[in-house]
Amino acid sequence: MLEITNLTHTYGRGSGAHRALGGIDLKVAEGELVCIVGPSGCGKSTLLRSVAGLLEPTGGQVLVDGRPVTGTPDGLAVVFQDYSRSLFPWLSVGDNVALPLRRRGLDRAARREAAGEALDAVGLAGASSKYPWELSGGMQQRVAIARALAYRPSLLLMDEPFGSVDAQTREDLEDLVLRVRGHHRMTIVLITHDIDESVYVGDRVVVLSRSPATVTADLRVNLPAPRDQIATRELPDFVRLRAEVGRLVRGTRPPGAAVLSDPSSN
Ligand code: ADP
Repeated sequence: MLEITNLTHTYGRGSGAHRALGGIDLKVAEGELVCIVGPSGCGKSTLLRSVAGLLEPTGGQVLVDGRPVTGTPDGLAVVFQDYSRSLFPWLSVGDNVALPLRRRGLDRAARREAAGEALDAVGLAGASSKYPWELSGGMQQRVAIARALAYRPSLLLMDEPFGSVDAQTREDLEDLVLRVRGHHRMTIVLITHDIDESVYVGDRVVVLSRSPATVTADLRVNLPAPRDQIATRELPDFVRLRAEVGRLVRGTRPPGAAVLSDPSSN
């Protein structure tokens, strides 16, 4: 579904140039949910924008469904962190969700029906005629997720989608994504700085190094489904994996691991 080969990106030129991506290689199979974690500022959003066709990388290749990304690929939807800027305040919730469906060539009645179904799936069936600013932050982010779902994307990209909501809402939204993904088979790439979250929702966790980012580790998460906010997080495998990802992100060794002696310290 997604194949990224030696992807590099440098912002700016000359002495002000900043190399954000240092050669990323990554493959995501159809139906997988892959979480991407890494230190703040390492290039996660740059990577996602390159896949979405919102940024032209300076080197390498991105293939979605076997086709090189030149503009935003058909069948792709993105959910950004900042729900307050991603919904149109002058459109009702229903119209916000239905708007992108014009690109799908659906008539008005079909757009309305698909929007209603998606709002139902995120628990906002009754909010269709409200305006975004009448809803809480968590509800607005649900609308943004509903809009992506209504589009029936084959590839859904999410950039820190739960970063601006409270902890309880965050857990609800994580479970929502797992649920809808079970119903509509889609491939999901989710960027997060939250290590717990990456292990909780992911089939795989891909760890990026500091900028210029490369893939440091690609870990499979073999936790039983369906995942449960309390029981899953108590499992020894969850705890072990979370610690491993945490160390990889921070670039530290496990306790007791061999440490090379520093000759200058004697
Ligand atoms: P992350 O999402 O991991 O926090 P980003 O992809 O947003 O990281 O940014 C990676 C690096 O590139 C950061 O050092 C950031 O400051 C820099 N960067 C991001 N966008 C731009 C831009 N438009 N121009 C110059 N530098 C940028």
